[in-house]
Amino acid sequence: MELLIKQSAFDLLKIGIGPSSSHTLGPMRMAQSFRNRLLELELPVHKIEVILKGSLALTGEGHLTPNAVIAGLLGFDPVLSDIEKIQGATLEVERNHGFFLGERFLSGGADNLVKFDKVLTGLRHPNTAHFYAYDADGKLILDKECCSIGGGAWLLADSVKPAGSRNVGEKLSSNAILKYCQEHSLSLLDFAYAQEECYLKIEREEIKAKLLYLWNVMKAAVENGLQQEGHLPGKLNVRRRAKRTRDRYMNRSSQLQKAIPTLAKANIYALAVSEENASGGRIVTAPTCGACGVVPGVLYMLWEELKLSEELIAESLLVASLFGNIVVDRASISGAEVGCQGEVGTACAMASAAACFLSGGTNSQIESAAEAALEHHLGLTCDPVMGLVQVPCIERNAIAAGTAINSANLALLGDGDHLISFDRCVDTLRETGTDMSDKYKETSLGGLATTHC
Ligand code: SF4
Repeated sequence: MELLIKQSAFDLLKIGIGPSSSHTLGPMRMAQSFRNRLLELELPVHKIEVILKGSLALTGEGHLTPNAVIAGLLGFDPVLSDIEKIQGATLEVERNHGFFLGERFLSGGADNLVKFDKVLTGLRHPNTAHFYAYDADGKLILDKECCSIGGGAWLLADSVKPAGSRNVGEKLSSNAILKYCQEHSLSLLDFAYAQEECYLKIEREEIKAKLLYLWNVMKAAVENGLQQEGHLPGKLNVRRRAKRTRDRYMNRSSQLQKAIPTLAKANIYALAVSEENASGGRIVTAPTCGACGVVPGVLYMLWEELKLSEELIAESLLVASLFGNIVVDRASISGAEVGCQGEVGTACAMASAAACFLSGGTNSQIESAAEAALEHHLGLTCDPVMGLVQVPCIERNAIAAGTAINSANLALLGDGDHLISFDRCVDTLRETGTDMSDKYKETSLGGLATTHC
């Protein structure tokens, strides 16, 4: 089979920790990699310094970036380590007045480890971090400049290219995928399976098992989120509302909720996952941490309401990821590069594609659902208040879950014929993101972010 995809569904859907894939998960991974390199080279490290630049500096505090970097330097892993240990990394350094890098004890407090440089100009990417290691004489022995490019992925600064031009050659295209499927009589699911088998060189059963594992992490995030009460971390003092909203919904639904109960459920489940994310919990990037509530919100509701098998729900993630990966390839899923249209907009397109697939939509209906969901997020800015992934992010996930269902519904009522292709919509997202002022790209320098100073 001709290989059309440029990255796997599992590069997009990653298990991670909140609150931000680009500002928490990516920086943690960069730090982990820097630590591993230092250990591998057996360098006589005496001191490490990390400078967070651009958007990582402007909103890093609210996104818990310094703690994520410190956790990575301490050797914690976003998938395998205890959440409590990751969350307590900074405290651990403060308590011990330093930390161990292999056999070496590097003394000093957390403030000396991570510093900020808020200048946005002259960077290869708005999410840049520079890692430095010095010996006992203060001589620089290793440095790496890294960029967090969205969804938890990162690159060395030298290899970063502008949004939409990261892959050389033909861009991943929904038109090409639909044409291929038509010529070979394939469903989007069969196409996605065949592509993954070819790309990852693993059997379908192994892909299924990996998808089920991701679905189980998503389910756990919904269920954990529904049990929590109290306030989210950070100075905004935001009260968790998923559990309260669910209780209210169970006890005294409004007339409107009685008319459209499934919508309310998707809203509530999306809130639950987004609150888990905002509290630094474990989620699946779909496609990012900030936008991680939309896909599980919709899928959990459909799983419950339609009594679908777990296998089918998990497979819908594969169909959803085709559309997420088109955005990665043609534009960006980083709020710091293109605004929230790239994060929640993409999540909404993925959720809508999955919902349409689960309702038996044809390939062109699924593409139409994804397109409509993304189209009506074009131009959406990223302006997190106080740099926290809470307002407007959490509610935005809930609203997008509703839009995803709505778009899938409209697509299923049509014949799949529509004017604007998903490709064209993604290209417009990229162009709009390029034109968007930096104030609205995860810097907290404009929009809602400045209404609460
Ligand atoms: S506004 Fe959107 S892109 Fe920005 S941090 Fe929130 S969820 Fe992410």
